[in-house]
Amino acid sequence: MASNRTFTMIKPDAVKAGNIGNILQMINAGGFKIVALKYTQLSKADAETFYAVHNERPFFGELVEFMTSGPIVSAILEKDNAVEDFRTLIGATNPADAAEGTIRKAYANSIGENAVHGSDSDDNAAIEGMFHFSGREIH
Ligand code: ADP
Repeated sequence: MASNRTFTMIKPDAVKAGNIGNILQMINAGGFKIVALKYTQLSKADAETFYAVHNERPFFGELVEFMTSGPIVSAILEKDNAVEDFRTLIGATNPADAAEGTIRKAYANSIGENAVHGSDSDDNAAIEGMFHFSGREIH
């Protein structure tokens, strides 16, 4: 059964560009309820752990450097079919391939600096949410 929660980050590029409010607005308009929310910055160790699945990829160093380059907003979102529906709302990894109306189409710059993260499975949504939030930060 599909879970009703997913995890997201508004990445440093979108925060620097002043798009926190615009992206939260798109998330709300997409029918997602914010159940946890934090303005924070990842350490190098945080980013390496969070993206450990990609540590053999050629872009891993660049990804860690980018994700630690400034503050982010992390959030847990609730909606029926949350993981799949949120992947649809954010659009393709490369904004050049992202559909009209998606967050990445509106606010992403490149395949690396692509404005938002969205969990790719129910299991990862739970793991990623627990990485960022304690139980009493989730409402
Ligand atoms: P998604 O975030 O859409 O699930 P992936 O899991 O494939 O995409 O990649 C994780 C993140 O790594 C991407 O969101 C992006 O920031 C970065 N990334 C992916 N592919 C590349 C690439 N070819 N060059 C640089 N960064 C990349």
